[in-house]
Amino acid sequence: MSDSSQIRHVVIIGSGPAGLTAAIYTARANLEPLVIEGEPSSTSDQPGGQLMLTTEVENFPGFPEGITGPELMSNFRAQAERFGAEFLTSKVTRVELGAHPFRIWVGNPDSPEPSYLANTLIVSTGAQSVMLGLEDEGRLIGHGLSTCATCDGFFFREHQICVVGGGDSAMEEALFLTRFAAKVTVIHRRDELRASKIMQERAFANDKIDFLWDSVVTGINGDTSVESVTVRNVKTGEETTHPFTGVFIAIGHRPNTELFQGQLEMTDAGYILTAAGSTATNVDGVFACGDVQDDTYRQAVTAAGSGCAAAIDAERWLEANEAG
Ligand code: NAP
Repeated sequence: MSDSSQIRHVVIIGSGPAGLTAAIYTARANLEPLVIEGEPSSTSDQPGGQLMLTTEVENFPGFPEGITGPELMSNFRAQAERFGAEFLTSKVTRVELGAHPFRIWVGNPDSPEPSYLANTLIVSTGAQSVMLGLEDEGRLIGHGLSTCATCDGFFFREHQICVVGGGDSAMEEALFLTRFAAKVTVIHRRDELRASKIMQERAFANDKIDFLWDSVVTGINGDTSVESVTVRNVKTGEETTHPFTGVFIAIGHRPNTELFQGQLEMTDAGYILTAAGSTATNVDGVFACGDVQDDTYRQAVTAAGSGCAAAIDAERWLEANEAG
């Protein structure tokens, strides 16, 4: 595999809005990108990223009537294919970024030869919301169960909603949801919040928000959409069922960066660090875009924007560095 004709200009790992936008841009720049898009392994882990878990998307510009998450991602993919992006439905199992060209394995990570060589690599492996681990979550996500108030709050006008978690994210979600909900109940497993003082004070001051302390969710109930939530008090053991028709899980996010541990610089929380005003990582020729490097905005449109930036950064890098 050392023949330079077999070295890809660009390999993109991940196929959410960031990776597919990078694919559209690099394909249109004639860089013949290979997108290693992942493969389905569970309801919450499949090509297309987190939008595959969403029903209606109403805030992606260009779709005044809204569009479903899976349909939007299928459009992104078709657009990239139209310009010649190649797709591999597989998971990357190992990368070696210590020297050029970069070495990328799919399948057996112990194989002596990598599956692909690449001059630039765009990492867009995304992040996932940490879930509670209940069986019902896979079934009801997108049907009353959500991990993003900004995305889905609008669909819960006058609902009784609960938010699970006690950190800043949970307070932020709860406060945002008061714009729509009849009532927002924060369910927290302890009797004090982890959130910053200022966020706590805002939540306590809002009369649409109340709290179920020392409580864990043991069941999210409903056949086709959420109808109620069962909660256990961890101090008394008492189980109660509440008529919440919207559930927002806000117990943290986990970036999908295990593959790059020890090779790309990351924050303490595992997000890839990129240079200010750029998608460049600490490894020359490796770029990161989308939620894998963004724990602030986490929106499809911001991910797509950073995917475009990564494609342009990779293109410029190739112009400056690729021989011939
Ligand atoms: P976090 O601070 O780690 O809080 C996670 C919360 O979820 C904690 O209250 C935790 O409970 C709870 N939790 C974790 N696993 C759970 C489980 N299995 N079941 C039930 N509850 C569970 O995460 P975050 O709120 O997403 O915030 C992440 C970082 O971003 C923080 O540094 C935060 O300050 C920052 N952030 C800031 C803002 C802002 O300033 N506006 C907004 C969002 C996020 P325990 O408390 O018992 O551990």
